[in-house]
Amino acid sequence: MRVAESKARSPHDISRAISLNRRNFLRTVTGAGAAAAFFGPAARRGRAAPKNRKAVVVTFGGGARDDETFMPDGRENIPHLLNELIPQATFLTNVVNKGILGHYVATASIVTGVYETFNNFAAVSPGNPTVFEYFRKDLKRPATDTWVVAPSNGFARIGESANKQYGAGLGAGVILPKRLLAAALSSAADGAQYQHLLRDNYETPLYAPRLAGQQIELDQMAGLLKLSVDDFAAHARNLASPDELSVYIARQLMRQLAPSLLWITLHDIDIAHSGTFSLYLDGIKRTDRLCGELWQAIQKEPEYAGKTTMFILPDFGRDSDIDSGGNGFQHHRTGDAVSRTTWMMVLGPDVKQNVVVDRSVESTDLVPTLGAYFGFDARLSTGKRIAEVG
Ligand SMILES: [Zn+2]
Repeated sequence: MRVAESKARSPHDISRAISLNRRNFLRTVTGAGAAAAFFGPAARRGRAAPKNRKAVVVTFGGGARDDETFMPDGRENIPHLLNELIPQATFLTNVVNKGILGHYVATASIVTGVYETFNNFAAVSPGNPTVFEYFRKDLKRPATDTWVVAPSNGFARIGESANKQYGAGLGAGVILPKRLLAAALSSAADGAQYQHLLRDNYETPLYAPRLAGQQIELDQMAGLLKLSVDDFAAHARNLASPDELSVYIARQLMRQLAPSLLWITLHDIDIAHSGTFSLYLDGIKRTDRLCGELWQAIQKEPEYAGKTTMFILPDFGRDSDIDSGGNGFQHHRTGDAVSRTTWMMVLGPDVKQNVVVDRSVESTDLVPTLGAYFGFDARLSTGKRIAEVG
């Protein structure tokens, strides 16, 4: 998009232009068709009964721009999304996040289906019920049936809201892999070598959140995941990034507890805040690969194969090169339409394949969509069910 164009247009028009660019790009690369051409029950493959369904939600973490993903120059950074996942997915090109563009508060907004307004760097619970609480309360599911794997200690309270009708004891367990690794390495002679796996957040390196909430501790994790602390630390030493650690934990969860609702927040891409473009690109490539690996894992695990829907969406984007209020790829400060207009892809036995949907939806629409899929009522969400995928 050119400078003059973006300055002259309304946010709605800019979102629409971004959406059309994505559609055109995908048509060139994957041959994905128009949703209208695919509508109708015949395109659906068999649905699992709601009580047997599972969902894995992955936030394509930290925000990537189209310049480095869904544009010709970005193509080489997302081969797994383009070649393996999108041909099997319904892809929404116009997902607008109208909330605060900070990672914790934005992810909390996706989790509650309401634009939360708390301070991004505060150790608070979301004000509105989370998807995990609706899921557990309405469907009478045990605590072991839903989990969050989160990148930063600042996400410790994301599993359970402050809402009095829900909240305490009804949320998801939260695993903070970096915190667990820090504990596992604390007594190891080589612990200092693994600081790249432990960096808590990229935006404010000096910020050390106070831990709060229902995050699980090292010994508990070892017991739940049937993984010794030594094995965990040994495996972690071979990993390149925090997101690899998160996916490793997620896969252990899938194998040992097979939760029906698993939420994985990836975050490596946000290393862009350091200002090093090559690290930002590495983050996108790694996130692309990890999304592919998660989908493969779903196909291989008997508890998941054939009955799992995977949702992949960014929390939000990043600033464009042309907005004078930002620093391009480095930050997400401007709050402009470019950094708000993201996407979502949905894959699974209930979802039509190789379909592009252009109508505008919002980040808050995911929770009601999950409600329709599982059969719970996201009463307080302000979003709307996305009928094309749930
Ligand atoms: Zn960020």
